[in-house]
Amino acid sequence: MSENSDCPTPAFATAQVRSGFSAQTAPAAAVPPIYQSNAFEFESLTHAADLFAHRRDGDVYSRTANPTVTVFEQRLAALEGGSASAGLASGQAAVAVALLALAGRGGHIVAATQLYGGTVDLLEDTLPDWGITTTFVDQDDIDAWRAAVRPETRALFAETVANPVAQVLDVRAVAEIAHEAGVPLVVDNTVATPYLQRPKEFGADISVHSATKFIGGHGSVMGGAIVDLGTFDFTAQPAKWPALTEPSRRVPGESLVEHFASGSPFIALIKAKYMHDLGPTLSASSAFQLLQGLETLDLRMQRHSSSAQRVAEHLAAHPAVARVHHPGLAGNAGHAAAAEYLPRGVPSVFSIDLHATGDEAADFARVEAFIAGLRVVRLLANIGDARSIVTHPASMTHSHLSRSQLAEAGISTTTVRLSIGLEDPDDLIADLDRGLAAI
Ligand SMILES: *Cc1c(COP(=O)(O)O)cnc(C)c1O
Repeated sequence: MSENSDCPTPAFATAQVRSGFSAQTAPAAAVPPIYQSNAFEFESLTHAADLFAHRRDGDVYSRTANPTVTVFEQRLAALEGGSASAGLASGQAAVAVALLALAGRGGHIVAATQLYGGTVDLLEDTLPDWGITTTFVDQDDIDAWRAAVRPETRALFAETVANPVAQVLDVRAVAEIAHEAGVPLVVDNTVATPYLQRPKEFGADISVHSATKFIGGHGSVMGGAIVDLGTFDFTAQPAKWPALTEPSRRVPGESLVEHFASGSPFIALIKAKYMHDLGPTLSASSAFQLLQGLETLDLRMQRHSSSAQRVAEHLAAHPAVARVHHPGLAGNAGHAAAAEYLPRGVPSVFSIDLHATGDEAADFARVEAFIAGLRVVRLLANIGDARSIVTHPASMTHSHLSRSQLAEAGISTTTVRLSIGLEDPDDLIADLDRGLAAI
């Protein structure tokens, strides 16, 4: 399960096209094939028994391992500098399974208030059904992170770049608090992608992704991933992690940290227990499409980022726009953090606030007129597509949040989220001007 041996230390652009696959893996195929097979033949019964007992690596059944999915997992781990990764059916599955694996026995999570709406629903509504509770803190309030930690805390969780308002996480500071508490920092790196940020370099321990967004990049396939960045030592306080450190039914007589000492015990737990028992599998054909996306990740992110910067600068000077929440702008609260954590550019997902009238219905009507005036940018609940997208968080992606949660996340009725795609930026600017003129 190694790197491509032709190039043992690939740079980013090489890793995104080559890692996890060599033509020897599949005779003569230059592109990783879609292994559209649920199960895989064993050489012998002894071979089968060894695979079932995790005595050797290999593919048994595609719910937990499939060769096309494995290429995707190894490539993503390479891009993020991680030790191993698991591909899942969606980003939501990746977040849920990563947190279940850490906090699954009545644990506690400290999470940023600035999170994807689906993650807030998971933490507030579904994980409590399983006895897992969450304390939410403003991600910029470092003392609040520290104060929220309890003996039963098992993870700190935040997005490296949040949305809709594009707050940039101080990864180093939050990682330090996690490590003082003896727990990993888990980051959702969906919006930044491994191209704009490698969270491991700043102290994060585990990253999760919605590959549905920029990694796939074409708005056509759902997927997710969990990457073990290989930095967290689960043996330092073994009593905190019984699923990893006590004898496991998955490797009888041993613990996962013993059995998988040379690999990633955490990813082994994700696959052997959670993927195996709950079944949120990434399909081979989806993994294939995500690999097609990964191969151009750097080029697309450069274009997304530079176009969004131009659009943001244009909108900041537009009289119909009250505020632009883009950390690439000099006046933005996250501008210094962006220089530190996003040296290759700022993601293309950001928000603008239209001028508010003070009357909610009138404000909604202004947003409606703006969106109705757009011809190129389309109204969808998605980000990270080749197409530019407009979303109204208060009535769409974040509509399950309470009024105070909306305020804490920096969202008002006049907040409009943009995900700048790969169209010509001049066409996008003309279109947004057309929408603003329609208010
Ligand atoms: C979309 C998204 C998710 C959920 O991913 P799905 O692939 O839609 O399940 C999680 N986190 C962030 C930041 C997202 O944008």
